[in-house]
Amino acid sequence: MIEFEMPKPIAQQSYVLQTVAENMMRPVSRYFDEHEHEIPWDYINFMHMAMRATGAGSLAPPERKEEPKPDEKKKERPPIAYQMLAFMLEMLAWGDVGMYLVTPGGGLGAAAVEAAGSSEQKKKFLARFMDEKPTFAAMAMTEPQCGSDTSAIRATAVLDKNTNEWVLNGEKIFVTAGQKSLEESQGFIVVWATIDPSAGRAGMRSFVVEAGIPGCQVTKMEHKLGIRASDTASIVLTDCRVPFENILGSPEIRTDTTKGFKGAMATFDATRPLVAATGIGVARATLELLKQILAEQGIHIRYGLPRQKLTNIEREIIDMEVMLQSAWLLVIKAVWMADNKKSNPLEASMSKLRAGDVVTRITQRAVELMGPLGYSRELLLEKWFRDAKITDIYEGTGQINRLIVARNILDYSGRELR
Ligand SMILES: Cc1cc2nc3c(=O)[nH]c(=O)nc-3n(C[C@H](O)[C@H](O)[C@H](O)COP(=O)(O)OP(=O)(O)OC[C@H]3O[C@@H](n4cnc5c(N)ncnc54)[C@H](O)[C@@H]3O)c2cc1C
Repeated sequence: MIEFEMPKPIAQQSYVLQTVAENMMRPVSRYFDEHEHEIPWDYINFMHMAMRATGAGSLAPPERKEEPKPDEKKKERPPIAYQMLAFMLEMLAWGDVGMYLVTPGGGLGAAAVEAAGSSEQKKKFLARFMDEKPTFAAMAMTEPQCGSDTSAIRATAVLDKNTNEWVLNGEKIFVTAGQKSLEESQGFIVVWATIDPSAGRAGMRSFVVEAGIPGCQVTKMEHKLGIRASDTASIVLTDCRVPFENILGSPEIRTDTTKGFKGAMATFDATRPLVAATGIGVARATLELLKQILAEQGIHIRYGLPRQKLTNIEREIIDMEVMLQSAWLLVIKAVWMADNKKSNPLEASMSKLRAGDVVTRITQRAVELMGPLGYSRELLLEKWFRDAKITDIYEGTGQINRLIVARNILDYSGRELR
């Protein structure tokens, strides 16, 4: 059963995070937008300290302990780890989505280990987020010739049977937090590579490459349209050797199934609704500021009046609020399913594509409605307009998520509908 009342721990967390967003993010939002590649250490160190103090070192939700005994079951609270993350990310993105992306704690990299790693791997790789210094992790899938079509991955991992190590070669681009994971902390990146190029998707695996390992180098930092506080790196792997046990999932190749690939793709079922939540945060920030400016100009939204009696701007604002709320409900459904271990690829993709549409539309319209003021750097509206678009690009573009939705509804495989 889905409850619509916010659980108490989430309400408490939201209150604290709103203070962080208002006092640590918004005041420096413009500065870090204009000083790309400068690192907001005050925010990072504060978040690291706070997350350590609360035991939430990693942004990936903690693994559930063993099954409770039957008599304990009744007392146990329903799981809400992903729901907490969604509310947390929405609030931080409301503060500044670029800065949220540099929050220590593992991000996509930790989520990949959480989704596809064994218990030992989770213990080994995720413990570092509780270390004294802030630690980052990233996931590297995209390559110069490969984005949406992951079967085009060319990076290779070959097992050296003499040393029992995987030897990785290839180039990865657009790796969020790649530089922080490898150069600014003792973190790791999860690299996707093929262990058998002739096996297509069945040969794809992901590998944990830890900071400091020879043969793994950051070669470029992108200059971007939005989310400029977030580092986006190119990484080259040259005969980069990682221990055998750093492979996530089974090293065995079975051409009759793409189970290994699907296991790794499960990362996205967990993270797409969270990306959607960040888009919602930006859209909410925009709508709130828009309403505040209108109110300062004496324009108040007269909720409850029949639609034909409303002005055009009132109708538009109300429509935007409906879009925002409905998109948020899709996020809540997808994370609720993740918390309750229900398969959610359909809901994850739906929430992501809808949030991408909504945040793009709301931020664009806000800039238009405010005219020159919307376009000027005096307000954050133009920044949010630039920050919004990424919601619709990384972790599957809007088009790719539409394809996934269609496949799930029509029960087609990736090969049948692409
Ligand atoms: C700021 C930023 C951060 C990123 N962070 C990461 C990261 O941390 N890790 C990582 O691995 N990657 C990351 N990426 C890469 C991102 O995931 C890819 O850009 C994205 O998956 C699209 O791939 P592509 O750029 O190669 O575009 P393409 O796949 O070449 O697509 C180009 C266009 O064609 C459309 N298209 C493609 N195939 C189809 C189809 N079958 N049907 C209809 N339309 C289609 C796409 O929707 C898109 O509009 C990041 C990108 C950016 C911009």
